[in-house]
Amino acid sequence: MKSIAENTINRLIVYKKELGRLLKDSVSNVYSHKLAQLSGFPSHLVRRDLMNVGYYGSPAHGYKVNELEKCISDFLCTPDYVRVILIGVGNLGRAILDYCNQQNPKISIIAAFDSDKNKVNKIYHGIYTFHIGSVQNYIKENDIKVAIITVPGSEAQKIASEIVESGVNGIVNFTPVRLQLPDDVYIENLDMMLGLEKVVYFVDGG
Ligand code: ATP
Repeated sequence: MKSIAENTINRLIVYKKELGRLLKDSVSNVYSHKLAQLSGFPSHLVRRDLMNVGYYGSPAHGYKVNELEKCISDFLCTPDYVRVILIGVGNLGRAILDYCNQQNPKISIIAAFDSDKNKVNKIYHGIYTFHIGSVQNYIKENDIKVAIITVPGSEAQKIASEIVESGVNGIVNFTPVRLQLPDDVYIENLDMMLGLEKVVYFVDGG
């Protein structure tokens, strides 16, 4: 597991996205306070994060957008190309297949898995769906390290344990279940309802 703080990585990902937008708009230079404003983080944090990735802007011209974007990408990356699998091609899984593969050219969902015979051997948003029974072999043969889980909660732990046993060490978990896995497995929990309930609570003035 890499030692850099998770929050720093989260911020770097946001800067990278904002810098990508600036590049699209042909903006060549950006000051730290502008990047702070765009990303929603305080300027001092932005400056510190960018120094951490080894990029120093000039006080007169700010940061060069293209150089900074490349510097952050190199820092975050990740090999040239990361192959990811998705397990559970239900409504959420299919939406993720549709969404994710248009986002980052270096990260691709290359296969999906499901237990429903009506879904296997079909292509959803360009991704072939295999039977879940073949997932362990697939992971080993293709050296897959990252998986997205969008099965019902009741199935999540079993699936997670199996894929970790086969070599996966990073999981994006869209189920409400807190997965029990070895410490060296990185888990990102993205339970939609938890997020929604939290927002509802705070909006309610709680
Ligand atoms: P749909 O109506 O298309 O089935 P859904 O979103 O209601 O979608 P869920 O019940 O949430 O479906 O299940 C998500 C997906 O996970 C489904 O496609 C289901 O077939 C699949 N699934 C359930 N159990 C497993 C399992 N053990 N292994 C792999 N996939 C599974």
